[in-house]
Amino acid sequence: MIIEAKNLEFAYSKNSRKVINGVSLSIEEGQIISILGPNGAGKSTLLNLIATLSKPDEGELFITGKNANKMNPKEVASVISYVPQTHVPAFSYTVFNFVLMGRAPKVGMFEKPKDEDFEIVTKALSDVGILDLANKPYTEISGGERQQATIARALVQEPKVILFDEPTAHLDYGNQLKTLRVIKSLSERGYAIVITTHNPDHAIMLGGTTAILDKTGHLRVGNSDEIITEQTLNDVYGTDLKLIYMEDVGRNVCVPPRL
Ligand code: ADP
Repeated sequence: MIIEAKNLEFAYSKNSRKVINGVSLSIEEGQIISILGPNGAGKSTLLNLIATLSKPDEGELFITGKNANKMNPKEVASVISYVPQTHVPAFSYTVFNFVLMGRAPKVGMFEKPKDEDFEIVTKALSDVGILDLANKPYTEISGGERQQATIARALVQEPKVILFDEPTAHLDYGNQLKTLRVIKSLSERGYAIVITTHNPDHAIMLGGTTAILDKTGHLRVGNSDEIITEQTLNDVYGTDLKLIYMEDVGRNVCVPPRL
């Protein structure tokens, strides 16, 4: 078990609703967990709690068996990489240097990166298929390429778990699939993956585990096959979706009704 969250509760202020309400979740090596839920349910909030970017009001979080309250950011960073939604930084780094910054928790504040760091960055760029972009300015590559660069940056941190906040948002169809393939291959290499998504088909394609967060802050977790049903999807999205098994692709697909 890499991460164990027990009965987490979280509200943004004293009088506001509990966005996270009695949530328990365990994350194991090689496991993929897709978190589905309507807009504003609290998916990003839950990722932030797991990443220790915010603290729960109640409950406990254990990271590799240690109480997260007793860990410093460097210790957390040795286990958890967080891939936020992509953004364009104000300064133009090369793709290589942008990824190299992911080594910061390993390299130390006042040390220079060593040959080993450069090798790790080169391997990560190669793993996500953008080594040829190494010397390009990060601000001048496409959205899809930027997503691959942020994944490479998460990899060089050498974590056990990678948390992705809507990694396919803003990407075209081809790049969504490319990103999902990279994510799936990372889980096959032993990384645990937690991803938030608006697209039930993505959770179905990734397989593994699906967790559904509802507007009352409760999380339901189970095998993707079992948890993604028409009834659940209709409850989550408040619309009449159909799940249809497609022989050609060997899986269920989620189909919206006529307009
Ligand atoms: P999701 O990722 O599922 O769309 P979020 O975790 O972003 O949902 O937000 C959950 C709820 O918490 C929403 O009602 C949102 O308005 C609220 N919220 C998010 N961030 C903040 C914040 N920094 N301060 C106050 N409320 C917030």
